[in-house]
Amino acid sequence: MEKDKIVRDISKLIGKDKVSGDEALLSIYSKDPLGNVGKALAVVFPEESKDVSRVVSYAYKNDIKIYAQGSSTSLAGSSLPKEPGIVISFERMKKVLEVSLVNSYVLVEPGIRIDDLNLELGSKGYMFPVDPASSSVATVGGAINSGAGGMRGAKYGTMRDWVLGLEIVLPDENGTIAFAGCKTLKCRQGYDLVRLIVGSEGTLALVTKAYLKITPLPETVIVALAFFPRLENLMEAVVDIKSQRVQPYILEFLEKRTAEVAAKSIGRSINIDGHMLLAGIDVNREAVDRYVEWIEKLLKEHGGKGIQTARSWQEAEERGLFDIRRSLFVAQSKMAREIYKNVNNAKIMLLIEDIAVPPSRLIEAVKGLKELEKKHGFVTMLGGHVGDGNLHPSIGFNMLDPEETKRAERWFEDLVDLAISLDGTVSSEHGIGITKKEALRRELEARGSLKLLEIMKDIKKVFDPKNILNPGKVV
Ligand SMILES: Cc1cc2nc3c(=O)[nH]c(=O)nc-3n(C[C@H](O)[C@H](O)[C@H](O)COP(=O)(O)OP(=O)(O)OC[C@H]3O[C@@H](n4cnc5c(N)ncnc54)[C@H](O)[C@@H]3O)c2cc1C
Repeated sequence: MEKDKIVRDISKLIGKDKVSGDEALLSIYSKDPLGNVGKALAVVFPEESKDVSRVVSYAYKNDIKIYAQGSSTSLAGSSLPKEPGIVISFERMKKVLEVSLVNSYVLVEPGIRIDDLNLELGSKGYMFPVDPASSSVATVGGAINSGAGGMRGAKYGTMRDWVLGLEIVLPDENGTIAFAGCKTLKCRQGYDLVRLIVGSEGTLALVTKAYLKITPLPETVIVALAFFPRLENLMEAVVDIKSQRVQPYILEFLEKRTAEVAAKSIGRSINIDGHMLLAGIDVNREAVDRYVEWIEKLLKEHGGKGIQTARSWQEAEERGLFDIRRSLFVAQSKMAREIYKNVNNAKIMLLIEDIAVPPSRLIEAVKGLKELEKKHGFVTMLGGHVGDGNLHPSIGFNMLDPEETKRAERWFEDLVDLAISLDGTVSSEHGIGITKKEALRRELEARGSLKLLEIMKDIKKVFDPKNILNPGKVV
């Protein structure tokens, strides 16, 4: 259908200030951070669930595709309007509707950013613990639908562990509004549709409200930063920490070269004396000295250098202990740009991957990645969450060079095989989107479970018989 007619029709349905067909705006909502470009025909800014329902019903009746967007920071191409369609941006639905400490939940609209939610909860001594590195912009709706995780994943898992109930709009004739799950911590409501929607990347239903579990803020968190000339020593330190009845709050890793680029990208002059380990442990205030002493000793025993410790999260923030780790994405893009700075006519594409292996197999994974670097000739940036075995290797390549593009594809195929061979998975928190569909197929095939892909496709058809919600993604 013609763009202007869509904008006119939706204006009549929900109000003209809630929809736009402005070309400059459409171009912003048609892109993703990886450099993919799609085609938004209109951008809708709903302010309540009924607006979403009316637009979905309209799209259903007119066979128009719909793409939900939070802040569109997906690294798997999940929020891209791949085929022409309506983008529904949830940025105006960002209220905290209820905080119930006694019931351990918060009720929110999907467009609230995770950091804003935590500002509100923090004032009550609580937090929502899932913290993607993009949390200053990432929305709750986007995080639910991509199944996001973050630095605190080693202790608190990912979104699938924190969603109790969801108000959703179904892609049917009426844009039916339904509620899946419960407000209560325990809930046995037939098949677990909440967990099905978490990580479904906006392909099954649109989330318009969410009951999320919350947890008290720790009394304090001690933080330690150290560098290890040998990877083996770093991993042994990780094993040692995890073997001592300590469940780290965060346990993060950056490979040496990546840490160097990341430090440079934020203008930090620090001696990067090896691979970087960043550990945080939540403790009672009375135990701070004991734990700081313990972790300093442990890191030294395993050959850690340049050790810095902070006695609280705030002190660690003030002294910038998290800054290098948080600059991983910037470092990844910067490195790719640096490599191609003298190549005329280059269009750089970043592959930021998201494998996980059991933490006991991390050394094999990192060694395997080094071999892939040699085999395919791409400089590989590497960091990740060692506490839960999630690594983010990344490469940049020139999309305009067919030979290089083929080589990048082969690098990715080998990476998938590496993850599978180490009992791991190809996507831990970023989702499948458009970039990992074939990898998902190969992972299921390798486990003798291709039948499950057919079941997933059938589930998509049951929810979305006309295939209007985020088509071409996940399955
Ligand atoms: C610098 C950077 C760092 C990152 N670090 C991490 C990290 O540490 N951990 C991690 O897990 N991810 C990370 N990501 C990926 C991404 O930021 C997260 O997955 C984030 O949670 C996505 O939020 P968003 O609001 O941008 O969602 P979007 O990208 O807008 O959407 C993500 C998916 O959810 C769907 N969606 C959005 N809102 C709704 C809704 N209301 N109803 C139905 N579907 C919806 C979209 O269609 C899409 O499929 C990072 C990305 C960047 C750019």
